[in-house]
Amino acid sequence: MKRVVVVGGGLAGLAAAYEAKRRGAAVTLLEKDRPGGKVRTIRDDGFVIETGPDAVVRYKPWALALARELGLEDEVVGTLPARPAAYIRVRGRNHPLPEGLNVVIPSRLGPLVRTSLFSPLGKLRAGLDLFLPRGPEGDEAFGAFIRRRLGREVWENLAAPLTGGIYGGDPENLSLLAAFPMLKELEKKHRSLILGSLAAMKKRRASREGGSLFASFEGGQARLVEALLDQLDGSLHAGERALAIEQEGSGWRVTGERGVYPAELLVLAVPAPAAAELLEPLGFPALAELRSIPYHSAATVTMAFDAAGFPERNGHGVLFARPEGFGARGFTWLDRKWAHRAPEGYALCRAYFSGEEAEQDEEELLKTALRDLRRLLGASVEPERVWIERFPRGMPAYTVGHLKRLAAIEAAEKGFAGLALVGAAYRGVGIPEVIRDGRRAVSEFLEEHPAS
Ligand SMILES: Cc1cc2nc3c(=O)[nH]c(=O)nc-3n(C[C@H](O)[C@H](O)[C@H](O)COP(=O)(O)OP(=O)(O)OC[C@H]3O[C@@H](n4cnc5c(N)ncnc54)[C@H](O)[C@@H]3O)c2cc1C
Repeated sequence: MKRVVVVGGGLAGLAAAYEAKRRGAAVTLLEKDRPGGKVRTIRDDGFVIETGPDAVVRYKPWALALARELGLEDEVVGTLPARPAAYIRVRGRNHPLPEGLNVVIPSRLGPLVRTSLFSPLGKLRAGLDLFLPRGPEGDEAFGAFIRRRLGREVWENLAAPLTGGIYGGDPENLSLLAAFPMLKELEKKHRSLILGSLAAMKKRRASREGGSLFASFEGGQARLVEALLDQLDGSLHAGERALAIEQEGSGWRVTGERGVYPAELLVLAVPAPAAAELLEPLGFPALAELRSIPYHSAATVTMAFDAAGFPERNGHGVLFARPEGFGARGFTWLDRKWAHRAPEGYALCRAYFSGEEAEQDEEELLKTALRDLRRLLGASVEPERVWIERFPRGMPAYTVGHLKRLAAIEAAEKGFAGLALVGAAYRGVGIPEVIRDGRRAVSEFLEEHPAS
């Protein structure tokens, strides 16, 4: 029987451990804190509070496919209907998100013409995309790409606020090829992003289930963690940090805080800086690349208010364009986005912070969240309950050059038999991608090295 040791019990590590178990391997999973990593659902007096991720996108199928395998299909929920679903605050006003966006690209001319997000000149500039020639091959900064194709207003008023939260920090220098490869592909294939998006959205609409773009579980994202743990009985060593790794024969020896664990396959499902620390004594040739993946901070402040007399809110939330001067990136109206997340009679609002603003301490975060919310709603609201979570340097950013760094890391990994680096640092930051990554690494190894 093959032995697999997984270090890191976020969703990448849990999915890797599950895949190994499913394929009949003996599994040990070391997690220094609690399983779930960035995923945390607090169930408290009828509140279901997500302090980290609150949704998976349906068109990346790996999380929901796993949920089905784990028997969670009856617990999958979509977002509550809302049209428009979200707003962006620009020039002191909330503007509805144009309908039919493909990631950040308007895929229909009607909503683009009608939207109040852009000035008439800004719309004309966006329309130039229909005529502009293709850009150069190769990687490009996301900000420069959107401005080149669609103009400055689309960047500042739509693309930047929509994507600012995904990788933390400033989306300007994200790698187009690593973070938004589908947009580069659209340009390559269709030349115009708008025309290409129209074709892509037609296909996607046909394949989308249930209408809602986002999905979660009745009991929150932690249901996925709990269902995975149910499959891993006895394999999880929670509260045990991996201290050192060594090669032993053709395999590995992992020293944890409470024991030593031999393995044929070692899966490092930890953030890149933690992987670099473990790999340094082995002379791993891509330590510099691992360490040069930038990490930004994120934080959330969730507040419950007495709904009686609470100002009216529309859609699932509002995002802020940077020049508006808010500290938070935006607010989600959780009670309007999901059913049954708060007891009757509560309004549930979550402020999302990323980059420098997320580095404030809890007291400052709450102050900023309340100041922003009061300014946004124009009312002096006071929360009855508050939940705050900080993710210091918790979000990897795929900046220009990420794919080169990744290629160097993958080449170095190949020099160490039975080593796999998986998780949000590498091939996608969302829950679906890290699940796919963890499972892929384990299946590849066990298919190449079947138990003898
Ligand atoms: C605020 C926020 C909101 C988000 N929203 C969404 C969303 O809505 N949808 C979405 O798809 N994604 C979202 N994401 C992204 C997604 O949650 C993460 O990218 C994903 O959960 C990361 O999983 P992971 O397993 O790669 O890493 P992590 O969850 O970071 O897990 C790594 C684990 O390794 C452990 N570890 C580290 N070092 C050691 C060691 N030496 N020994 C043992 N254990 C160790 C850590 O304790 C941690 O548990 C969000 C992220 C944040 C922070």
